[in-house]
Amino acid sequence: MYDVAVIGCGVIGAAAAFELSKYQLRVLVLERENDVAMGASRANSAIIHAGYDPKPGTLMARLNVLGNEMAEGLCRDLSVPFQRVGSLVLAFSEEEMETVRELYDRGEKNGVPGQRILTGEQVREMEPEASEKVVGALYAPSAGIINPWDYTLAFAETAVRNGAEIRLNAAVEGIERQGDHYLLHTAAGDVEAKYVVNAAGVESGRIHEMVAEKTFTILPNRGEYYLMDKCEGGRARHVLFQCPNKDGKGVLVAPTTGGNLIVGPNAEGVTDAHRVNNTAAGMAFVQKKAALSVPGLNFRNSIRNFAGIRANSDKDEFQIGVAAENFIDLAGIKSPGLSSAPAIALECVELLKQCGLHFEPKANPVTTRKKVRFRKLNDEEKQAAIRENPLYGRVICRCETITEGEIVDAIHSPIPPCSLDGVKRRAGTGMGRCQGGFCGPRVLDILARELKRNPMDILQDGEGSNILLSETKREVEA
Ligand SMILES: Cc1cc2nc3c(=O)[nH]c(=O)nc-3n(C[C@H](O)[C@H](O)[C@H](O)COP(=O)(O)OP(=O)(O)OC[C@H]3O[C@@H](n4cnc5c(N)ncnc54)[C@H](O)[C@@H]3O)c2cc1C
Repeated sequence: MYDVAVIGCGVIGAAAAFELSKYQLRVLVLERENDVAMGASRANSAIIHAGYDPKPGTLMARLNVLGNEMAEGLCRDLSVPFQRVGSLVLAFSEEEMETVRELYDRGEKNGVPGQRILTGEQVREMEPEASEKVVGALYAPSAGIINPWDYTLAFAETAVRNGAEIRLNAAVEGIERQGDHYLLHTAAGDVEAKYVVNAAGVESGRIHEMVAEKTFTILPNRGEYYLMDKCEGGRARHVLFQCPNKDGKGVLVAPTTGGNLIVGPNAEGVTDAHRVNNTAAGMAFVQKKAALSVPGLNFRNSIRNFAGIRANSDKDEFQIGVAAENFIDLAGIKSPGLSSAPAIALECVELLKQCGLHFEPKANPVTTRKKVRFRKLNDEEKQAAIRENPLYGRVICRCETITEGEIVDAIHSPIPPCSLDGVKRRAGTGMGRCQGGFCGPRVLDILARELKRNPMDILQDGEGSNILLSETKREVEA
């Protein structure tokens, strides 16, 4: 019998598991996909928002500002790429300057530090490539950029190192209340738990309805992006937002922690929450809107398009609370969910305490994670790393300079990947200009070798994404 079962291992479930794993509790995370961070947590704008956008007094406002404050220390301790680059909300008219002033006021009420309203000239001094048409902006120095799937992995891996268990390919299909506990029917067998945390993203409404009356409806909403080559990376130094409107936070242009540029998203309601595709219309919209902020963007330098699905709901608020006896919802976590994740995890602990769960701290929980990022080392450190493990001396991903040592580290990490994209999320292979065209087959061989699996069974990403489809023996002429 587990003390707590967490449903879903996106950034919210992972952060909750990390926090719970610091206590003497038997924790199990159930994830329906073959890896963690397979939902919204892997396909988003990767911004740690400052917190001026949510309405004052909401959970979103409080948890965003707290999550932003917590991000820097957590990322340092858990070796997650994060930079507090600051953000600018650009205004293109006097009417939009009104919105900028409203956002400033909201930010002050929400406790966002260091905000300033800038003129168009001041914006162009800070951002030489910003449009001549910008008349002013809200500057929020506390906004940051992060690697979102590594944030998720860092929480999940550290939770596992603290003794939490994770079960992949274990979609929760039904939940029954049985006496003083819950019986969860999953694709990987039944599980008993005294307390349950629902962190199932776009499925969180369906999970809620397995134990309680419907109180909110998830309205899945797709956002599409361009990821630009590093040669475009210098076009924005800060996160460049446009004024928010009824469809969301508008199209942004922002640097990434990997040195690329991210451009997007649009916002479109969709009926299928799992169809994460790009559309010609969506991409055209993003191009047109982004060019208003940074006219010099060269979309020929796009190296990847991707899309993510927001777990928006019919409520303009996170759905966090006690849904049924000993059952906590961390549901409908739309933007700024990534920014708020560690604060939502603290909220989850408080709610479980209110439900009667006893929290006894562990003597020495793991709260740090070390990761070798070979290309970030100086020459001496590189030589020392290679002396210790010669595999760090063999570069496999040439675009990103990722070594075999880092790939092998990733494969033997606390939550081992089973796919090329799983290695990509952990080691960074295939993130560069060639998008895995060159290193993909070599990573496949290394995965098969290290996992002692048939190369035919190695996946690109989710279940069914097999890469090799048949074994053909080539006749070699004598
Ligand atoms: C386009 C876009 C842009 C965004 N930009 C930002 C941003 O810049 N900053 C920010 O703060 N936020 C942003 N967000 C929001 C942020 O990404 C989300 O709030 C956050 O990732 C939500 O995390 P989650 O864990 O709740 O959901 P998810 O990451 O979707 O995780 C839910 C998990 O539950 C699993 N699951 C579902 N059903 C079941 C089941 N039955 N059994 C077991 N497991 C199940 C899923 O497989 C998934 O892994 C953005 C979102 C999108 C889509």
